[in-house]
Amino acid sequence: MALRFTSLGSGSSGNALVVENGTTRVMMDCGFSIAETKARLERVGLAPSDLAGICVTHEHDDHLGGVAAFAKRYAIPVYLTRGTAQWLPEGFPAVLVRLIDSHTTFAIDGLAVDPFPVPHDAREPVQYTFSDGATRLGVVTDLGCITQHVVDKLSGCEALVIECNHDIDLLMTGPYPVGLKQRVAGRFGHLDNAGARHLVSCLERSRLRHLIAAHLSQQNNTPALARKALAEAASCEEEWIGIADQANGFAWRDA
Ligand SMILES: [Zn+2]
Ligand SMILES: [Zn+2]
Repeated sequence: MALRFTSLGSGSSGNALVVENGTTRVMMDCGFSIAETKARLERVGLAPSDLAGICVTHEHDDHLGGVAAFAKRYAIPVYLTRGTAQWLPEGFPAVLVRLIDSHTTFAIDGLAVDPFPVPHDAREPVQYTFSDGATRLGVVTDLGCITQHVVDKLSGCEALVIECNHDIDLLMTGPYPVGLKQRVAGRFGHLDNAGARHLVSCLERSRLRHLIAAHLSQQNNTPALARKALAEAASCEEEWIGIADQANGFAWRDA
């Protein structure tokens, strides 16, 4: 068995990532319609029936927005905190709800899933690491600020997908209203390029083989700026940094 992962798309218009260990495949978040999710899964060689579960991070539309309809249509269990579960629509089948504790590792078939709480303006937000027992993928988007707990959870991973939401200068000089600028840049908002650089520089990286920038703002960031920030943090070539973009995410990678 080997861990591999792909993104179906990442950004404020919708996020979804798939992690696979052998025949176990789990989707993390789903911010797309049923048809869009199905099409994006087909692009990476998968069908909805291949998914053993959906792990949700928090209730914002770009993460939870597509989950209920898709899970209900294909009878896929949904893993989420009690705070996030409050945002499932009325009538969502209780039989598909798997409440998780934000500090307790759980298993979905052959995949170990380790949630951890993050500062973000949501009810009970978490992010996740996934492991097959040998290799570990850490994913963090929607991170208002860096905590020691986040650093501990992401240290030692073979693969990392890290939010590079905005460039602070582009955000502050850009078209967003002042209130939204303050929300995005605040301690319960989103991680900017400099924050992502700082986070990666704080991590234990001796096993790191994949570093991917995700959740880039289309107005307030560029792939080049995100690449530069993460490459500086990891002391590597900019070409080595992957980008999870809104339209295509990124192709399968063997962790
Ligand atoms: Zn988001
Ligand atoms: Zn969010």
